[in-house]
Amino acid sequence: MSESATGDAHGVTGDAGPATGAAGRAGREIDPVAAGSGDGTRAVRAGLPEPAKYEPTLPGPVFAAHYHLPGDPTGPYTYGRDENPTWTLLERAVGELEAPGRGGAETLVFASGMAAISAVLFSQLRAGDVCVLPDDGYQALPLVRAQLEAYGIEVRTAPTGGDAQLDVLDGAKLLWIETPSNPGLDVCDIRRLAEAAHARGALVAVDNTLATPLGQRPLALGADFAVASGTKQLTGHGDILLGYVVGRDPEAMAAVRRWRKIVGAIPGPMEAWLAHRSIATLQMRVDRQSATALAVAEALRERPEVTGLRYPGLPDDPAHKIAARQMRRYGCVVSFTLPTRARADRFLDALRLVDDATSFGGVRSTAERRGRWGGDAVPEGFIRLSVGAEDREDLVADVLRALDASAA
Ligand SMILES: *Cc1c(COP(=O)(O)O)cnc(C)c1O
Repeated sequence: MSESATGDAHGVTGDAGPATGAAGRAGREIDPVAAGSGDGTRAVRAGLPEPAKYEPTLPGPVFAAHYHLPGDPTGPYTYGRDENPTWTLLERAVGELEAPGRGGAETLVFASGMAAISAVLFSQLRAGDVCVLPDDGYQALPLVRAQLEAYGIEVRTAPTGGDAQLDVLDGAKLLWIETPSNPGLDVCDIRRLAEAAHARGALVAVDNTLATPLGQRPLALGADFAVASGTKQLTGHGDILLGYVVGRDPEAMAAVRRWRKIVGAIPGPMEAWLAHRSIATLQMRVDRQSATALAVAEALRERPEVTGLRYPGLPDDPAHKIAARQMRRYGCVVSFTLPTRARADRFLDALRLVDDATSFGGVRSTAERRGRWGGDAVPEGFIRLSVGAEDREDLVADVLRALDASAA
């Protein structure tokens, strides 16, 4: 695996962002031990406050619609839609993982991944601007496209593979990248695309949901924003929705913050706290799930009824070369196609350790026939399999047994 994305994991500084925000930002000192450490150490310590006698290590959720506020209404905590101390700690944690040692980066958490995605797009683009989206990305992007166009924004699309977005960049204001793409698992070269976009004056946002910050760090690869759904592997238990935006430009992030305030797409304190608690185990989960995903992909590769197998960690996967350059872990999602819709349905039905459910990244394996939603351009027998934290041998055996059982 490449270390290219880890080269900046030193030089710890506090937040150099605008002094107008929360105390959490003003007083943001990234823990020097964690920032100079490995991913596991950083994950368990991410965002923790300074130890205080008789205080818990991770303070519990703060439930507050408003705060005591005598006198002039200045920050950090005024009203619950603007700021919350539980978000502040989570935002620090995510920032330490996405941009360790990058003092200037700012993080904002949202109610969901779509809230975070919409916040970047709708706060940065104006009527007449050009935006470039992948045509093989998350299934809600066509809905986003329709809304952008309704506001007079020109949307161009191109596939993720082969860096095809390069060809439609001229005149663009914002380039949106999703790599690896969901559900097709194509990969594009973030650094190359970001350089090309910046040369044309465009901003670059990367949807980092599938990789997680332990799989790739878009800001270190040149992107202006790392955006993700925390609903998936970041929190990893399939029990909350969450999103985040990490950005390095204070003005752009001020606009994203303003968008969150006016739309009110804010996470509840309980969700924010659960997310922070879950991040402590992120490295263990991601390491184990990606190792098992590779084992599952290797087992599927041997099966004649499986076609179109994709996993960026497989050495002979079409995306592996670029993935190896920019990713540090290859994720927990494997995709492949069975000959027919009926075969795929029988396979899903025969699985015992894998739930037939949408979404991905959880500790319990899930799989689904993606074509049932109708949004993605995938064959009827296309399966997206999210590998959980079960024992590797058990899971591989279950998948192979279900393939046998579905043959009839
Ligand atoms: C799930 C997902 C989203 C949307 O996230 P929500 O939390 O469901 O709103 C966006 N991008 C990708 C790649 C996703 O997988």
